[in-house]
Amino acid sequence: MRYFDHNATTPLCDAAKAAWLEASDHAWQNPSSPYRAAAAVRARLEACRERLGELLGVESSRIIFNSGATEGNNLVLHHWNETLGNDARIALSSIEHPSVLEPAKALFGGRIEWLPANSEGRVEIEDFDFDRVAAVSLMAANNETGVLQPWQDVGSICNSKKIPFHCDASQWVGKMPLSGLSECNFVTGCGHKFGGPKGAGFLVVSGSQSLEGRLRGGAQEDGGRAGTEDFSAIASLVAALEWAESLRVAVSDEHPDLFVAKLVKKIPAVQVVGEGAPRLWNTVMVEMPEFSSSRWIARLERRGFFVSAGSACSTGKSGPSHVLAAMGRDSSAMRRVLRISGGWETSREDWLAMADSLGEIYADLQSEASSSDAEVISI
Ligand code: PLP
Repeated sequence: MRYFDHNATTPLCDAAKAAWLEASDHAWQNPSSPYRAAAAVRARLEACRERLGELLGVESSRIIFNSGATEGNNLVLHHWNETLGNDARIALSSIEHPSVLEPAKALFGGRIEWLPANSEGRVEIEDFDFDRVAAVSLMAANNETGVLQPWQDVGSICNSKKIPFHCDASQWVGKMPLSGLSECNFVTGCGHKFGGPKGAGFLVVSGSQSLEGRLRGGAQEDGGRAGTEDFSAIASLVAALEWAESLRVAVSDEHPDLFVAKLVKKIPAVQVVGEGAPRLWNTVMVEMPEFSSSRWIARLERRGFFVSAGSACSTGKSGPSHVLAAMGRDSSAMRRVLRISGGWETSREDWLAMADSLGEIYADLQSEASSSDAEVISI
């Protein structure tokens, strides 16, 4: 199997698997229980928080462990809704993940100012008047196109104007340098995008902000999230981030370029979405010249390659991608895109084999289309 859908989720890396198994065997007690075995789990949980704080460059007491980025993003939007005042307007980019867009639309409705994306999929802030808004949310890297967003610039503008800034860093953490995230007021991340377990994530809340959890119940996570902590998942998430960080500098960002060079030789009319913009090292979104995404995906799957057409969350939903729509792509082009996202273990050979397979599939699809045309004519 050649897995090219890491932006949807990643396989559990060996370090994360070992950490999960070890914790499940030896540290399964409730960290809030009153006996020594439980206190030991509490101590290990706090050590994980400490380690994650070191990796992210943030004060560990400001980290809330949770179920993932959807929960963290929702919590920030609800917090703003409850604290910013009835007339407050917030700014979001039009290419945010649905876990930001949907709660924002439900809670703020017409009080959202949109940060537009250009045709390369990068958010533009030059003409934006930040004085009109009381809070800003911008993702670090887009999950569909892999295009890196100007979150550092937006963060410093917000800092200078004392506007709370939230960064959904789900696709950034584990792939890109972590420095700078400590400057954001709120940061969301989730483990399964960097070799950790699904259902485990974190929200960082900077010292200048105070945030009340939405779940009512116990006082876990310093009141930030009621519910028994899943220590095995937390240990596994932290082990995964250490693993991803140790590989990050060594991972080659040339393979996707080699893939594109080879693919363009085989299918000259193919287009890379966001070609001129800085992108994540693992992601290439291509617009194929003919045939629907689903036909390409099915043919690739038969050959052992797994890719998607956009975000996994929108698969099965009718309608084109809101990200591509925000970039001004026409609707027919949107039905021909493939999101190809490799991982830490994806080799040069895997990328080149993907280009070969796409070339062969294209030849097959074209010859099938021309023979069915011939049949229609002969009828
Ligand atoms: N934000 C971004 C940018 C994502 O790519 C994803 C998942 O694809 C999420 C948030 C939501 O993550 P989860 O479904 O794990 O909560």
